[in-house]
Amino acid sequence: MAIKNRAILVTAPSGAGKTTLVRMLLEEYPNFEFSVSATTRAPRPGEVDGRDYFFVTEEVFDTMIANGEFLEWEEVYKGTKYGSIRAEIQKIWDKDHVAIFDIDIMGALRIKKELNQNLLSVFVAPPSMEVLYQRLNSRNTETPEKIKTRMDKATEEMRFQNIFDVKVVNDEIHSAYQFLKARVEKFLNTSH
Ligand code: 5GP
Repeated sequence: MAIKNRAILVTAPSGAGKTTLVRMLLEEYPNFEFSVSATTRAPRPGEVDGRDYFFVTEEVFDTMIANGEFLEWEEVYKGTKYGSIRAEIQKIWDKDHVAIFDIDIMGALRIKKELNQNLLSVFVAPPSMEVLYQRLNSRNTETPEKIKTRMDKATEEMRFQNIFDVKVVNDEIHSAYQFLKARVEKFLNTSH
């Protein structure tokens, strides 16, 4: 019997390394497909519209909210909204692929409620807050002010670390990935 409507969500405080882990999963499993979110923030260098995000105006985003197009959406940072688009997720499921979400913790809690069946929820934790700070600082994409906002938010978000199905401590990326992969394999073998 075909396995329908499966999803894996990966959440973490910003800078914990979830995007790298998501990329590794997408490279390894051809039937995993990234659920491309909409955002009102500007693209960073190298980001592609429709691949990394759908970059939309505030006005378009608000229309999408009003039309009920989001499975969940959040103002992740003040003035910047992000949302998971129902139609994109359905497109993935129509191909019988597994939808992969890379989303913030509040959004993850919503998805957990909405898709309690056949969902594997993963929290990626940094080895320490100190390491998280160093990682955010070395990205060179954010101002000190933005880094401080992200650190404050991360401290708050760590409170939720134990309520997801899997917690991966991202100390070293390859061992973190192996740990995650084992849990993903188990999920693939047992979900129905
Ligand atoms: P960034 O601006 O660094 O790409 O993403 C900022 C945060 O927003 C990250 O934690 C990312 O996972 C999260 N995010 C991306 N897309 C969505 C979404 O559709 N919904 C929610 N709730 N968060 C998202």
